Amino acid sequence: MQNIDEPIFETKAFKLNKLEESLSKKARELGIKKFANRAFKYDDDAVFPIENYKDLYKEGFLGICIPKSQGGLGAGFRGYALAAAEIGRYCGATALTWNMHVCSTLWTGILADDLKMPKKMQETHNKKRSMHYKRIIKEGAIYSQPFSEGGGGAAGATPFLTNAQPTKNGWIVNGKKIFASLSGHASYYGILCTEKKPDELSSQKDTLYLAIPAEAEGVSVQGEWNPLGMRGTISKTLIFKDVFVPKNSALMPKGKYYEAAKRWPHMFLTLSPTYVGLAQAAIDFTIKYLRGELPNTPPIKRRMYATKQLTVAEMQIQMENIKTIWFQSISEARVDPSPQQIKRAYATQYTVMEGAHKIAQLAIRTCGGQAMLKSLSLERIFRDSRCGSLMLPWTAEICLDRIGKTSLYNFGEKD
Ligand SMILES: Cc1cc2nc3c(=O)[nH]c(=O)nc-3n(C[C@H](O)[C@H](O)[C@H](O)COP(=O)(O)OP(=O)(O)OC[C@H]3O[C@@H](n4cnc5c(N)ncnc54)[C@H](O)[C@@H]3O)c2cc1C
Repeated sequence: MQNIDEPIFETKAFKLNKLEESLSKKARELGIKKFANRAFKYDDDAVFPIENYKDLYKEGFLGICIPKSQGGLGAGFRGYALAAAEIGRYCGATALTWNMHVCSTLWTGILADDLKMPKKMQETHNKKRSMHYKRIIKEGAIYSQPFSEGGGGAAGATPFLTNAQPTKNGWIVNGKKIFASLSGHASYYGILCTEKKPDELSSQKDTLYLAIPAEAEGVSVQGEWNPLGMRGTISKTLIFKDVFVPKNSALMPKGKYYEAAKRWPHMFLTLSPTYVGLAQAAIDFTIKYLRGELPNTPPIKRRMYATKQLTVAEMQIQMENIKTIWFQSISEARVDPSPQQIKRAYATQYTVMEGAHKIAQLAIRTCGGQAMLKSLSLERIFRDSRCGSLMLPWTAEICLDRIGKTSLYNFGEKD
């Protein structure tokens, strides 16, 4: 039997490097010792995991993808993803919101460097990102990533409706973001918006990625957050009304987010680690429960029934499928991937997001009625895992759509 709470990805088998191994270990320890016990309250009351964020800061995890030379932990894309999966195993809402924060450093860091900018643009970018990194390392600043608006912008189909009117020293931003995780809790909202042009319609190439201080005049949080799952993410609506944003607030130079979305598509795979963790959590729960070893439940064994053994086998097979394709995709994430790699990334997102919930469903069926009581973590895992397929820009439906189309049509072909 695999010991419960062993690493999801074993160092030797998956050939993890030293940093990846130590980050995953530290994340798992944080999860076991701190996050697991707090997860119930965040979910039940739909409150933001503030205490977890204090721990993430203390352990340096807010700067996981910031280079060591600038005070961070220096993780790459895969190192971050592996640690995030371990955190998702213990608290989905913490892992998902932490992803929004980390992306503000991953996209401005490793991804931006891969896009190769002209020297002057690179120097200006270096200066600006250092300012953001310093805030994170020295002050514990938290960045969020609101891009959804309810229209086609978040799916990459149209320019963002939130707009930025250029002024001499910056921009005046107006617009609305829905499902903005960390609303009311982030120090900076890293929004995507479209820069207005004086004489012509703006396009997706005019997308700006700006860090707006939560306290800036004209920024407000609206509505309530009382969803089915991921309740601790506090993803309310953000309103920007004539918000002045100075030039140095740009997280990436104009057009570079658009370029990254085209040339570094695995950037959208960063929502998946949370759900790899949730899938593993459903398995951890099931094994403990069927062995009669789940804390605070009667020590009744159910593992001797063949039906239970078969379902656990089915869950393990699904988990190994998730792990294999996911590990391949996070290992091959890079600038300008091949069409096969892009298709595999969509397949990975689909497999993880749908698969995590399927595993949670099987867990409930096989553990039975007493296991789905609200007081136990499986009920939360079941609800949290349902949310993965809904996350734009790579919802499960969009992944299917793109895999199907690119399999049947060559570039430019039409019927
Ligand atoms: C827990 C949680 C946290 C979130 N946190 C954030 C966050 O921090 N920041 C953020 O920006 N967003 C966040 N989101 C929002 C998320 O990305 C979606 O925008 C949100 O779920 C609304 O989606 P919708 O299904 O209503 O979208 P709609 O735009 O109504 O789309 C409905 C469905 O239609 C399909 N669809 C849409 N456009 C296309 C297209 N062009 N081609 C083919 N199919 C399409 C998709 O499958 C989509 O699911 C979060 C969502 C959840 C559930």
